[in-house]
Amino acid sequence: MKEEAILTEEKTLDPQDWSALNELGHRMLDDLFYYLETVRQRPVYSKPTTAAIASAKQPLPEMPQDAASVYKDFYTNVLPHNTNNIHPRFWAWVQGSGTPFGMLADMLAAGMNANVSIGDNMPMYVEKQVIDWSKEMMGFPDTASGILLSGASLANITALIVARHHANRDIKTKGLQAVTGPLTIYGSSETHNCVLKGVEVIGIGSDNFRKVPVDDNYRIRIDALKRMIMEDRAAGCQPFCIVGNAGTVNTGAIDPLHELAAIAREHQLWLHVDGAFGAIPRLLPEFADQLKGLELADSLSFDFHKWLYVNYEAACVLIRDPELHREAFTSAVNYLTLHERGLSAGPDSLNNLGMELSRGFKALKIWMSLKHHGLETYRQLIRQNLQQAQYLAELVQLQPELELLAPVPLNIVNFRYDPGHRTEQELNALNKEILMRLHEQGIAAPSYTVLNGKYTIRTAITNHRSRLEDFELLVKEAVRIGNQLTQSS
Ligand SMILES: *Cc1c(COP(=O)(O)O)cnc(C)c1O
Repeated sequence: MKEEAILTEEKTLDPQDWSALNELGHRMLDDLFYYLETVRQRPVYSKPTTAAIASAKQPLPEMPQDAASVYKDFYTNVLPHNTNNIHPRFWAWVQGSGTPFGMLADMLAAGMNANVSIGDNMPMYVEKQVIDWSKEMMGFPDTASGILLSGASLANITALIVARHHANRDIKTKGLQAVTGPLTIYGSSETHNCVLKGVEVIGIGSDNFRKVPVDDNYRIRIDALKRMIMEDRAAGCQPFCIVGNAGTVNTGAIDPLHELAAIAREHQLWLHVDGAFGAIPRLLPEFADQLKGLELADSLSFDFHKWLYVNYEAACVLIRDPELHREAFTSAVNYLTLHERGLSAGPDSLNNLGMELSRGFKALKIWMSLKHHGLETYRQLIRQNLQQAQYLAELVQLQPELELLAPVPLNIVNFRYDPGHRTEQELNALNKEILMRLHEQGIAAPSYTVLNGKYTIRTAITNHRSRLEDFELLVKEAVRIGNQLTQSS
């Protein structure tokens, strides 16, 4: 009797009624499939309503709420106002579009709730498989090491930490005080901001990031790079790393990586390549020339969640020298030593390769997606996006009111509306207004950048749902809004 009383008092977060949750779960799945299947029919952007925003300002929930009513709150307030990078006309920043199969894989990973850090368990082996596939895709030797991370930002920092360790192994214990003369790092002025943040965070300091000027194609100027390294050496600095861009965020420019590799070798510098999205065309034989040298880098970052369309978040860093990688992050602690048998046996702990100890099972959605779609499908989709970029550039050039503002070496198209007789300042304001109206009217979602002082409408195509007609609509509507704005003023 007494025993029974105790048992009924024991709580768990598992449902009391499994079949009710099962039914709700199936409804969620049905709703999400419908949501993805019909995404094209909805506007690309819808501003969160006042009611929706208020729904995210509720008091801290003290008492339990019914699962179905919590889901209803999500369904009515959260879901309709997505970032919407799943939409066929979403081309803002560089964001991937995800897949329905990836969604399912994430559900399986969440159900397993694996902490992929240590131990003799399959999630560890699946991640290792994904790293092995990554090395093969990028032409890295199979002796290289690597780890999955949330995004290229973290992948870049992880690589920079290994590069710093390569420059001076005492930094790990003694800090930057161990270095005489500041460590300096080089990358083009088009290098992504997250690299600069990384340089700040790991103590190098952004003043010691040398922004090397670019040529007309937004590629790093090799002559300037060489000169800057020489000058820094002469001034007592310690050059330690070059960052090459495989696909800059502004225009998709690919630095001459092969030449960067030669300079790095000559000066004994670390070569890191930020290939967040631009490393992916390495899968295409026709890019062998443009991406030549990528496989020579000491480290390489790339995202699965951008141009391989894997659901957020998923990125990878590869490091050529596995010992150096491990040495930069490992520290022996009693509660994490591997055992010969049992739960704590198995492969080397992954926290020896990065900052994170607890890590989710990101590898599963990558592993399942690559298997299900196959590289051949990815090649076709990447080519499709590249062709769409060329098509959009042509449409822009055919339109007298539009101006193409940068070369299109990859999947990024920069253009603006220019009806003539306007100052640069007026054009900047006009194009910003066009962009905001494209968003507000739910038509299309490119984003923006500034190139040589010119505000550009920037279209980054890492979207497997886009069709040629979507780009025709973008051009037509940009011109329509532009004409409307200039005729009414
Ligand atoms: C997107 C991007 C990054 C940052 O990657 P996240 O996955 O967003 O962290 C870095 N470099 C380039 C070139 C990018 O396009």
